[in-house]
Amino acid sequence: MQEPIQVINPYSGEVVGTCPRATVADVNDALSRSAEAFKQWKKKPVAERVKLQHEATRRIRQEIDSLAHLLSSELGRPLAGCHHEISRSADLLDFYAQEALRLKGEIPLHNLDGEKALVVREPVGVVVAITPFNYPITLLCMKLGAALPVGCTVVAKPSEDTPLSTLRLAEIFLEAGFPPAVFQVITGYGFEIGDALVQHPITAKIAFTGGTATGKRIGALAAEHNKRVTLELGGQSPAIVCEDADLSVAVGAIVKHAFANSGQFCYRVNRVYVHEKIYARFVEEAAHLAKTLKVGNPLSGCDMGPMINEKIYRNAERQVADAQAKGARICSGGARLQTEGYENGWFFPPTILADTNHQMQIMTEETFGPVLGIMPFSTNEEAIQAANDSPYGLAAYVFSQQLGTGLRIAEQLEAGSVWVNNIHRSYQDVPFGGMKQSGIGREKGRYGLEDYTELKTIYLTY
Ligand code: NAD
Repeated sequence: MQEPIQVINPYSGEVVGTCPRATVADVNDALSRSAEAFKQWKKKPVAERVKLQHEATRRIRQEIDSLAHLLSSELGRPLAGCHHEISRSADLLDFYAQEALRLKGEIPLHNLDGEKALVVREPVGVVVAITPFNYPITLLCMKLGAALPVGCTVVAKPSEDTPLSTLRLAEIFLEAGFPPAVFQVITGYGFEIGDALVQHPITAKIAFTGGTATGKRIGALAAEHNKRVTLELGGQSPAIVCEDADLSVAVGAIVKHAFANSGQFCYRVNRVYVHEKIYARFVEEAAHLAKTLKVGNPLSGCDMGPMINEKIYRNAERQVADAQAKGARICSGGARLQTEGYENGWFFPPTILADTNHQMQIMTEETFGPVLGIMPFSTNEEAIQAANDSPYGLAAYVFSQQLGTGLRIAEQLEAGSVWVNNIHRSYQDVPFGGMKQSGIGREKGRYGLEDYTELKTIYLTY
């Protein structure tokens, strides 16, 4: 038996709980139990599986306050944001459950005497869902909520930084009446149990959200064993602010999105290209707004808490130093906060870097921290080219009061989702996922559900 993993509150530095440090033997055990549970679960009428999922969401909403506190304590995000994550996750579980009732097969009209073909869907089987630290509940529900109602069973592997909320979620599913082992959680380090989870013969599909390097490794191993995958990976999302943009909307939307969850957010705005005629005004207003954001105790009603750990913090610090050395201008933030109240966490203030270029890491590498790079452009074509000059393609943003201009630019941006003229939440019924190195496959909507099924054709002669 290995020593359990300690889960640390990123704000106070205190231990808030522990979770088991699973071994390969534990992986084998969890997957065997999952395969056994799958035999019965896949036979259950869809309506019954759907009913259980709605019951689980009812219970999640019932204990939303304590779940939000638990999430905030392990993640360091302000409480209101944690509340929001859980409530949106419950909505997503309900949406997926309803959508599962609408999945259909087909009978093509061949008009052949005594012959027919039925095209049906079957659950893929045992799913391994591996998730990162930053939105532990939402990112798991994107997978779990689709897999369970179509008849798959799930073994979830949360991040070692934020496993506690996921463990509680699994208990709620059991209390709601889900049969044991239909949804299990295994906790531990990716480098110790990741390969075993991915390549095990029982695993039919790996649904992964996390860094691009980890995702590529998982993808390669999965391909070797012909496993199905959905990969939601890193991002370096650009925003283009055209000469005719409504700055009263663009500045607020971009600043809010860039610094949400302390910038630990896969499709956050990472870099902004602003038309040269409005560049100075945009930079000034964005820096002014960034300085008004309150950083502090996640339970005190602030806008931003600490970063999850030193590794994530150092990445932001490294990119700021790199940009500064290459001539960028720091317009807000820029250095770690260490005064009273900040001494136990990795606090980085909302940081705006102006006069950046593509020689700088801030414009080319994922930051995953509260740092935003801004660069001027003179023609829309130049801005589109710069925005697409990235190995990533998760999301992009464009602001122009001419809807035609906004739409034409959106069509040319290489990203799985593009927002035109404002940045609001992603909807439950439309697909979410990345192009290029940002991933493979889509989650949410019926697209997400279908990804947990296999098509089967049955030829009938009668
Ligand atoms: P990470 O890749 O370090 O870890 C993610 C998960 O993978 C963790 O549970 C970890 O234990 C596990 N893991 C690590 N090595 C593994 C291995 N060899 N085999 C199997 N599993 C392994 O990511 P992180 O630091 O927790 O999260 C940040 C990253 O996640 C960022 O790059 C961010 O862009 C990405 N992300 C993407 C999306 C999206 O939807 N595209 C959403 C959120 C976060």
